[in-house]
Amino acid sequence: MDDCIFCKILNKQIPSEFVYEDETCFAINDINPKAKKHILVIPKEHIKSLNEVKDFTLIKKMFEAITKINKQENITHFKTLINTGKDAGQVVEHLHIHILSD
Ligand code: AMP
Ligand code: ZN
Repeated sequence: MDDCIFCKILNKQIPSEFVYEDETCFAINDINPKAKKHILVIPKEHIKSLNEVKDFTLIKKMFEAITKINKQENITHFKTLINTGKDAGQVVEHLHIHILSD
């Protein structure tokens, strides 16, 4: 999607360091961290929010990625968060899962 910040990061139009990447998703450090470690796990496919997910194997794969990222980053305790819809605080309209660890 042309106007999407996460698609731009994926397409290298905006510089960002990937902490993880596989065929389904990638992960970056949140630019405005709300915990000591704050990582965003983002599907490569542009999907607006959880409400638009049709094939939930994507969500399974994202959570598998989360466990790999956490091992890699030595994260043993964490919260996950998916904001869905503007009224719930979703700012970037491209599905993502927050990993938050203090
Ligand atoms: P949400 O409120 O769930 O849509 O979360 C969007 C998150 O994206 C926020 O925590 C932002 O700090 C983060 N964010 C926005 N732009 C960037 C960027 N260029 N690189 C990394 N994180 C970003
Ligand atoms: Zn996008």
